[in-house]
Amino acid sequence: MKTVVPDYYNDFRCLAGDCRHSCCIGWEIDIDQDTLDYYNTITGPFGNRLKNSISCEGGTPHFCMDSHGRCAFLNEKGLCDIMLELGFDKVSQICDDHPRFRNFYSDRTEIGLGLSCEAVAMQILTKQDKTQLIVLEEDDELLWEDEEDFLVLRDEIFAILQDRTQPVWARVEKMLAHCDVQPLQLTPCQQVQLFSSLERLDPVRDRLLSQLENATPDMLKWENEDEFSIPFEQLLVYFAFRHLTESLDDGRLAGRLHYMAQSYRLIRNLCAVHCNNAGSFSIGDMAEICRIYSAETEYSPDNMDTLFDKFENM
Ligand code: SF4
Repeated sequence: MKTVVPDYYNDFRCLAGDCRHSCCIGWEIDIDQDTLDYYNTITGPFGNRLKNSISCEGGTPHFCMDSHGRCAFLNEKGLCDIMLELGFDKVSQICDDHPRFRNFYSDRTEIGLGLSCEAVAMQILTKQDKTQLIVLEEDDELLWEDEEDFLVLRDEIFAILQDRTQPVWARVEKMLAHCDVQPLQLTPCQQVQLFSSLERLDPVRDRLLSQLENATPDMLKWENEDEFSIPFEQLLVYFAFRHLTESLDDGRLAGRLHYMAQSYRLIRNLCAVHCNNAGSFSIGDMAEICRIYSAETEYSPDNMDTLFDKFENM
């Protein structure tokens, strides 16, 4: 089985104690059975701590959180006590994996880095050269015909999105036209209504959306927009790599392309309003907006399904 990753994949480094939005805060972190079995063999004070800090409420074993949503093993320096006490390879599968995501084909696995991690957001958005896919593990590859066809189409989409002779909005329009998908023209207010109707994970999302809801048309003009063409290109290629493959299973290619286009437009508008409100705008500001957006949509299967449903029925 061949393993394919984006060319920035091997450069990822977790910020650990320097992370401002640790993935060990605010999520219920599940524990896989093998890891749980191992934890049950640990004795002594740390064994007791493990037993007292794991809950099976709801059916799936997970780490308890404190009243601030911090994992019971995240210490005051922002480091993981399980890693420090038992070793880096002794964490739950989900901790070991994050922020990676995987897409599976019959004879290929693709692995990417998720944008809800602030280190990944900066890594992807500050990349200057065009993102390419590289082979991490070489092997013979025997794919189904529809998978081969899909990979050809996705290469064409990548080429459209990476055509730097065109403004980004035109590349998005061209991508939709290339796939015979009619563009959706949502006003900023409609964008806010749509995304506000989703399950909310972090109240900061509502503060972000309310800025857009109250924006005048002038606030949507963005003088320095061209300076952010490459970050938006990287964002769109990331969305394509992450979300289009699953259309092979669910047939929702149009919904996924709309998700890409509408995500681009919403994030672009949020960036414009932020820039006009603050009087300046940095790549760090854009990364923060993308990080919040990713956590609110990509990490909620229910929210993604809702969006695909709505886009397909507009
Ligand atoms: S969010 Fe990313 S940088 Fe922060 S702790 Fe998690 S993996 Fe590390």
